[in-house]
Amino acid sequence: MTIREALNNGFSLLQQGEIETPFLDAVVLLSDVLGISKEILFASYPETMNEENTARFLDHITSRLNGIPVSYIRKKKEFFGLEFYVDRRVLVPRPDTETIVETAIGLIDRTPSVQSVHDLCTGSGCIAIALKKTRPALYVTASDISGEALQVLRLNAGNLLRNELPHYQSDLMKSVPGTFDMIVSNPPYLSEADMDVLKEKGWPEPESALYGGKNGLSVIEKLIAECTDSLRNDGYLLLEGGCDQAGKIKKLMESMSFSDIIIYKDLAGRDRVVSGRKS
Ligand code: GLN
Repeated sequence: MTIREALNNGFSLLQQGEIETPFLDAVVLLSDVLGISKEILFASYPETMNEENTARFLDHITSRLNGIPVSYIRKKKEFFGLEFYVDRRVLVPRPDTETIVETAIGLIDRTPSVQSVHDLCTGSGCIAIALKKTRPALYVTASDISGEALQVLRLNAGNLLRNELPHYQSDLMKSVPGTFDMIVSNPPYLSEADMDVLKEKGWPEPESALYGGKNGLSVIEKLIAECTDSLRNDGYLLLEGGCDQAGKIKKLMESMSFSDIIIYKDLAGRDRVVSGRKS
């Protein structure tokens, strides 16, 4: 079988299985099996697939048809130009979340007094590692309630930072020592209704990374209250929320004495990141 034929087979199987982006998924999975880029894959159409690669590709297609996301099958996801290891222990980093990293870097560059940053609910460590990698002089730490997520963070910190990332297992800020100039977080913020939709589909990502309480905002509310004690005066809190939550997050921050509150848009132009200063 040629590479072109294998790709076409994978594509039609995914299409029949009503996978949302069948061609893209087949291309990414086949490139991964062959260990080549998409561009080289397209240039290699006439070449023959060996049996081992054909079997591995079919295995990947079967996993995808069983609802496993491409990133969990490949065990990796690009985020902020870096390659992160991911598996079922962590939420897959979303392109949307690059907005909070970019916003943090903008504020850090304009505010030389910001020297320490804590990433709360870090998961795979994507935000903390992207920040440390981009601004190595910062003192960056991370925490998560899930010990399993921290195993993945350690893998990523080892691969991408040679382990330079102090981290804590902690229920929100409870076991995180010290105070910070900035706290960033992509906390769980899906509502019960959002979760019902995902459960119906058999969604494989950890519930603890997604579920933010009945209305989606319980974790965020608690987090804002706890962060007031862990931020220095004038310190920044930056939060990612759902598309319809930015206004509510702003109100919560105002009610807990944050000032200079700004809402930032994600790549799709939706209000997604809220920043405030402890006053
Ligand atoms: N953005 C994720 C989603 O839509 C939710 C992530 C989160 O709750 N932090 O699935």
